[in-house]
Amino acid sequence: PASLLTAIEMAPRDPILGITEAFNADKNPNKVNLGVGVYYDDNGKVPLLECVRKAESQLMEKATPRTYLPIEGLAAYDKAVQELVFGADSAVVQEKRAITVQALGGTGALKLGADFLKRFSPNAQVWISDPSWENHRALFESAGFTVNNYPYYDASTRDVNFDGMLKALGEMPAGSVVVLHACCHNPTGADLTEAQWTDVIKVVTERGLVPFLDMAYQGFGDGIAEDGKVVRRFADAGGALFVSNSFSKSFSLYGERVGALSIVAASAEEASRVLSQLKRVVRTNYSNPPIHGGQVVATVLSTPELRNMWEEELAGMRVRIREMRQALVQKLKDKAPGQDFDFVIKQRGMFSYSGLTKAQVERLRSEFSIYAVDTGRICVAALNSRNIDAVVEAIGKVL
Ligand code: PLP
Repeated sequence: PASLLTAIEMAPRDPILGITEAFNADKNPNKVNLGVGVYYDDNGKVPLLECVRKAESQLMEKATPRTYLPIEGLAAYDKAVQELVFGADSAVVQEKRAITVQALGGTGALKLGADFLKRFSPNAQVWISDPSWENHRALFESAGFTVNNYPYYDASTRDVNFDGMLKALGEMPAGSVVVLHACCHNPTGADLTEAQWTDVIKVVTERGLVPFLDMAYQGFGDGIAEDGKVVRRFADAGGALFVSNSFSKSFSLYGERVGALSIVAASAEEASRVLSQLKRVVRTNYSNPPIHGGQVVATVLSTPELRNMWEEELAGMRVRIREMRQALVQKLKDKAPGQDFDFVIKQRGMFSYSGLTKAQVERLRSEFSIYAVDTGRICVAALNSRNIDAVVEAIGKVL
């Protein structure tokens, strides 16, 4: 008999996961997947960080019963994250104006923020960069928002269309929610300069917009403090501020789902009211977060020896990506003389809008078993010393 399920249509396939499915089915032993959104080491593997392994063995030794965590998560985790994101000496932390709750990765943090905003600012609209991480739009729409794009990337300059972005910000109604990538813009790799951030902070503050900083790659750009600086600058500017952050990449803890949402309020008293309401959002979604990932990150961040280790391991990932950018550009100079790829060096984070067209991406796939996203986005962190020559060779042929 027919039921409510009978007429349900197939949902569209996730475009990026679709690439991985096609890649997995490819029999070519020299295939390369540049479509991914994870960091691979030079062996083409997702690393297990040594600081994580050490923290886990410490935690195993003093095995604890698995009671529920508080709704807002592990207190030691929330504190360590807040200090990492805002700085322990920052005014918002000192004055207890920031609240932080553990979340299920960066995605979970964004969704908590979106649900909270929908409850307290139901008529606001959300603005995301054009282009943006493909889940931003769907996520805010699923929370009930109308989602708009502000200009961001200019393919002709291979850089940020800053005039367009600033103009759009200057025309948004007060109370609009503006999602900004704190560093390492996904998918383009094009970030704002410090001077450009100054202008953005000014417009956002003057117009009474609600900044929502999404920081999924802290430490992958120029360094932990360098990448986090924009968060501190927004916090100093005053006004309500939302920050989602993720440890998926920076701790290589993708599947443990560790992230956090922080909100900056005008006073400690306001912050405590905000936290009480944010806890309701958590409670009605998944009640409270899982223990393991939060414990690992809290242990690493608050144990000096492990923290140093983490900072070094993270620097190692950052430097390797930089080296791959340099190598890609250098090698392409030989294979594709006359074509300028220097913009790839300036880009930050795991991704590069390479400028490859959809047709070129298709040729890479069908003729060379090299997989990239149709937009030309490649994951620089999927390049390594063994596959880069083949990739460059192939790119040289499809250009
Ligand atoms: N925000 C951006 C910009 C991202 O690129 C990602 C992951 O790719 C996320 C958020 C989500 O992070 P997580 O995997 O921790 O949910």
